Order: sequence, then C-alpha cells, then structure tokens
Amino acid sequence: MQLDNLYQEVILDHYKHPQNKKLSATFDAQVHHVNPSCGDEIDLNLTIADGVVTNISWDGVGCSISQASVSILTELLVGKTVTEAYFIFDHFVALMQSKGTVAGDENVLEDAIALAGVSKYPARIKCALLGWMAFKDASVQAQAKSKLE
Ligand code: ZN
Repeated sequence: MQLDNLYQEVILDHYKHPQNKKLSATFDAQVHHVNPSCGDEIDLNLTIADGVVTNISWDGVGCSISQASVSILTELLVGKTVTEAYFIFDHFVALMQSKGTVAGDENVLEDAIALAGVSKYPARIKCALLGWMAFKDASVQAQAKSKLE
C-alpha cells in the first residue's frame, strides 16, 4: 500500500503512540467491534453529556490502519457536540467510500485526512472505518439510554 509519506508518518505515530487507549471505568455505552477480514478488534467506551462527546476510550488489537484510525478519532471527536461528531463521521465515511476520487476536507478531518489514501484499497477500508462504526454504534446506544433516564 502506497500512501503519501507525511500521511504514513501520522498513521505510524498514532499506531505507536495511541491516544486514549485505556478503557475508562465509567461510560454511557460500551461496544465491541471486529473486522474479521483483517482480524482487527476494538472495545470502545463512550460518554455523552448534554449533547457533547465528553469521553471516548478504547482498547484493541489489529493492523496499523485500524488502530491509528480509532486513536485519531478520539482526538478529533472528544469535545465536539454529537451533531458536529456526526458531520465529521459522515465526511469520513464518504471519503472512505470514494475510491480515491474525493480529497477530503482537512479542516473537517484534521489528522484523519491522513487516512484518505486508504480509500483506494478496498480491502483496507473496513480497517479504517472500524473505530468510526464503533463510535456511531456507541453514540446511538448512549443517546437511547439518556432518553430513558
Ligand atoms: Zn486491519
């Protein structure tokens, strides 16, 4: 897989120094997602308070793309409102499904733009999306729970 060198560095840096990789003791929702085609696995804990993503923590094993992607996601989405987080989520998913035809907006995606090149490699798209799908799943569960309380 050939990725731009700078982007490769961002991915490797997150893989070697993952952010928020320690499951929090408290959370609104906890999910476990796997990507069987590659063997990637992550657990993700999410806390949402008053419509703001206040905490995302995770643990996992897998390839550098999957692990870096979830690390990048935690830095990007914590502190955002759920609405903002979904906007970024939709932007990232559209980029991954673009087969390399969309450049992506760095102002929206920040470090996640480093994963843009992955969209040209269909076998790896699920790796890049694993953490994002886990976040979406957890956010739906967390919001359903808050409506019941
Ligand atoms: Zn993978």
